[in-house]
Amino acid sequence: MRLSNSAKATLYKWRGRAARGALAGVAIALPQRCALCSCATGDACLCDACAAAIAPAADACPRCALPSAGGVPCGRCLAHPPAWDAALAAGPYAFPLDRMVQRLKYAADLPIAAALGERLAHAAMSADAVARVDALVPMPLAPARQRERGYNQAREIAKAVMRTAGLRVRDGLVRSRHAPPQADLPWRERVRNVRGAFAAAASFAGARVALVDDVMTSGATAAAAVSALRRGGALRVEVWTVARTLRG
Ligand SMILES: [Zn+2]
Ligand SMILES: [Zn+2]
Repeated sequence: MRLSNSAKATLYKWRGRAARGALAGVAIALPQRCALCSCATGDACLCDACAAAIAPAADACPRCALPSAGGVPCGRCLAHPPAWDAALAAGPYAFPLDRMVQRLKYAADLPIAAALGERLAHAAMSADAVARVDALVPMPLAPARQRERGYNQAREIAKAVMRTAGLRVRDGLVRSRHAPPQADLPWRERVRNVRGAFAAAASFAGARVALVDDVMTSGATAAAAVSALRRGGALRVEVWTVARTLRG
């Protein structure tokens, strides 16, 4: 039997509430306003109209989340399989996701993480990906960046995915050395810039995890983080990002 996304969301939400205790569930059930247009939404983070404006690519490559006709693995992934087992995104890095991610990262709009995580959880449910993993691992920030910002946007997103999809958040992936921001570098230097930048500070032996981040662009940062998780023993690593930059 195939369940609709809303049926899955209800199921996962209750499973998540049962796991975290009743008190957390009460907070989720409070009436909310849409994070984009402020209309009343019941207990969802976005109204139906705004949620409909965000959609995963209809035909996306299951390995890199870039458009691929028929939803089959794209030629690039067949020729050079990425470090991770699967990738998905809530939508392209375009309006309104780009603005929402920028509000979260640069304007400390933490409540918007709930809306972003909810959309990402729905994308994972649509792809039947929730059952493939046991936990969510937020992409860690460099310690200096974390101190300056006061929060890690990937962790805020992962917490929201946890609430909707009923998956737990696991720590243990850390930045092991400083690397200059990827955005400042040409694409071909990005792989070298982040090589060895991550380490598993806990054992991931036998784990099936989804690495959660806000945006995937070249994929170099994700690849470096994924190889650290693999060195830590992870069996399966997926990359779940809110937005996917389309130029790949
Ligand atoms: Zn709205
Ligand atoms: Zn691909």
